[in-house]
Amino acid sequence: MEDLRRRFPTKKNGEISNVAVALPPPRKASDALPLPLYLTNTFFLALFFATVYFLLSRWREKIRNSTPLHVVDLSEICSLIGFVASFIYLLGFCGIDFIFRSSSDDDVWVNDGMIPCGQSLDCREILPIKPNSVDPPRVSDLDSVEDEEIVKSVIDGIIPSYSLETKLGDCKRAAAIRREAVQRITGKSLTGLPLEGFDYNSILGQCCEMPVGYVQIPVGIAGPLLLDGIEYSVPMATTEGCLVASTNRGFKAIHLSGGAFSVLMKDAMTRAPVVRFPSARRAALVMFYLQDPANFERLSLIFNKSSRFARLQSITCKIAGRNLYPRFSCSTGDAMGMNMVSKGVQNVLDFVKSEFPDMDVIGISGNYCSDKKASAVNWIEGRGKHVVCEAFIKAEIVEKVLKTSVEALVELNTLKNLAGSAMAGSLGGFNAHASNIVSAVFIATGQDPAQNVESSHCITLIEAEGNDLHISVSMPCIEVGTVGGGTQLASQSACLNLLGVKGSNNEEPGSNAQQLARIVAGSVLAGELSLMSAIAAGQLVKSHMKYNRSSRDIGPSSQVNR
Ligand code: ADP
Repeated sequence: MEDLRRRFPTKKNGEISNVAVALPPPRKASDALPLPLYLTNTFFLALFFATVYFLLSRWREKIRNSTPLHVVDLSEICSLIGFVASFIYLLGFCGIDFIFRSSSDDDVWVNDGMIPCGQSLDCREILPIKPNSVDPPRVSDLDSVEDEEIVKSVIDGIIPSYSLETKLGDCKRAAAIRREAVQRITGKSLTGLPLEGFDYNSILGQCCEMPVGYVQIPVGIAGPLLLDGIEYSVPMATTEGCLVASTNRGFKAIHLSGGAFSVLMKDAMTRAPVVRFPSARRAALVMFYLQDPANFERLSLIFNKSSRFARLQSITCKIAGRNLYPRFSCSTGDAMGMNMVSKGVQNVLDFVKSEFPDMDVIGISGNYCSDKKASAVNWIEGRGKHVVCEAFIKAEIVEKVLKTSVEALVELNTLKNLAGSAMAGSLGGFNAHASNIVSAVFIATGQDPAQNVESSHCITLIEAEGNDLHISVSMPCIEVGTVGGGTQLASQSACLNLLGVKGSNNEEPGSNAQQLARIVAGSVLAGELSLMSAIAAGQLVKSHMKYNRSSRDIGPSSQVNR
């Protein structure tokens, strides 16, 4: 029974202990007789020795009497059958229980509650499951039978998968049942995607719907980043070898040169709906109304009702025929702010509609915002936090730590990040790999990874400063928050805590999110410095082959591939 518990789900404290729920128990040698296991064992053991003894004595007798061995009577035939049956039964103890399997049992899924990666499975053959009629169900098995019924209902479309959490009131159990249903419907295994070890309550209604597990991404620590006189250990979630090591080398060079310095230029999340009017003249009239400073106070009062942290900063409009795109910019405290700004915009639209009833609201987002898309408006006007970060790197550090020269870096930056990106028609991509660092820090700290698109807009400048080097990154759209969304999840929250910017800053709301944006920019600065040095020194391919293709521990001089 121990084996059955392992393969089939039991409920402990109301939770499923195994996701491979309630497939019919595999037939085993011990099922041969409708008896308890110890009696079945005793029976076949006795049968084996009895038949062996009997056959050997008959064999000896025949040799003595010179009777041919192949001449057998009924008792010997019966003994032979008993011998073969008991022998096969005993083989089961050595794990060789093939004789009891049907051909479909050859699938690992059926035998071990798992399906090999990529192997398909016709779940319809498995579905008509009856509880084992031989062993009466135990209390724990009753629970698994109940879950099995739910799995079947999900597969049959009787219970919608999305409603499991509400129906069961147990997020973990809902995830396990959904996962099992998905595996059976697709015939594909989710083995390797963990289910255990995650708080499914924490994502309900906030971060992810219809969960079946969670993806693991390693988190490395680079640092310390010396930024504005404070040291930070920066968590980076990535599966790209060399990225953390390379950024770490950049941090080292910056630290040895006295650190980096940042300036927050602007902090404003944006949302731009699209509204339509009967004519372009009417659209223009509303545009002038919205942009008139005399109306700003009234509009901001209406907008700011959306949250105690939302503060309208400006409305700038673009018009296309009779369609209007008013772009609302507002501060959002420590939240990244998309929900907040959207609510504020909705308040204003309701008010404007009452003043201009012929306005037709086509969409709360008209793409002039512009969220999760590369766009000139973000690059020029900014979105989220606009941060500039700089460092002076001593010539000797460039040579000793970065293994290159100031001249080589300046030339490479001009030809690659400026001229090369211009030739490519780049939009906000005047950098070597800002998105690498932005993505890694975003994922570690629970930011919206899709906003990596505009958050990675960056121009990297490298100039000679006497014998030394001046490097800067200008990033107009760093969209980060330290409350809301994924920031509240345990792992992401721990990473924010490491940086000292977890949650809401009650003394100065917004300063945690702003600090995080500065850290992102400081980390990008280090990443740019290190990768540009690697390319200038011609080390890139060599180090990539060394560190990205080996299992060795990585050292400080490794580079990232870009
Ligand atoms: P977003 O607008 O980034 O999607 P959410 O709306 O999910 O963020 O989260 C913001 C929520 O957090 C709001 O309900 C807000 O009242 C609350 N909150 C608490 N403290 C702060 C803070 N310091 N800054 C911004 N929001 C805060």
